[in-house]
Amino acid sequence: MRLVLLGPPGAGKGTQAVGLAARLGVPAISTGDIFRSNIKGGTELGKLAQSYTSTGRLVPDEVTNDMVRDRLTHDDVAPGFLLDGYPRNAAQVDALDAMLAAAGTPLDAVVLITADTDALVARLLKRAEIEGREDDTEDVIRHRQEVYAAETAPLIDIYDGRGMLLRVDGMGEITEVTDRLFAALDGR
Ligand code: AMP
Repeated sequence: MRLVLLGPPGAGKGTQAVGLAARLGVPAISTGDIFRSNIKGGTELGKLAQSYTSTGRLVPDEVTNDMVRDRLTHDDVAPGFLLDGYPRNAAQVDALDAMLAAAGTPLDAVVLITADTDALVARLLKRAEIEGREDDTEDVIRHRQEVYAAETAPLIDIYDGRGMLLRVDGMGEITEVTDRLFAALDGR
């Protein structure tokens, strides 16, 4: 199955992606994680990405699209994949469409995890304490929410218009959200 997980920063995409991918037997591909591991490893990609990720701005599309295009050529995506954090703007939707059309492997669904803004900021500040991510300071958190609203939220209408959007309430316990996710996918 080929899925995209959509939702604002802090909605629990990463947490849910891991469980969902395991159940579906497909890799969870998080562009944020790939950037973070490159930053940690001091690669050229990491050096380029860091100035963007540390301030909550999107890494340029060309860089991100090339990275995803390469990742989708790996053998482990044969049974499908779960994209977490990509696409994040309309241009990335077009790029992903082109990649999937070229491979003849369309998306099955886009899952939107919803949550209210106050809960998101609270969750991200808590994560900052636990994980120490450098982009989890209050200013950067706020900026990432603004970037989401301006650049990523319009993707909801794009995928809804294609009839492939599933909405899942991301509030509550992790396991409750997981159950809702599975129910939404089973009920398609
Ligand atoms: P995330 O872990 O998904 O919250 O991503 C962390 C940071 O990585 C974001 O704030 C961006 O700077 C960068 N990033 C992740 N995914 C993308 C993407 N699809 N396009 C551009 N930048 C991204």
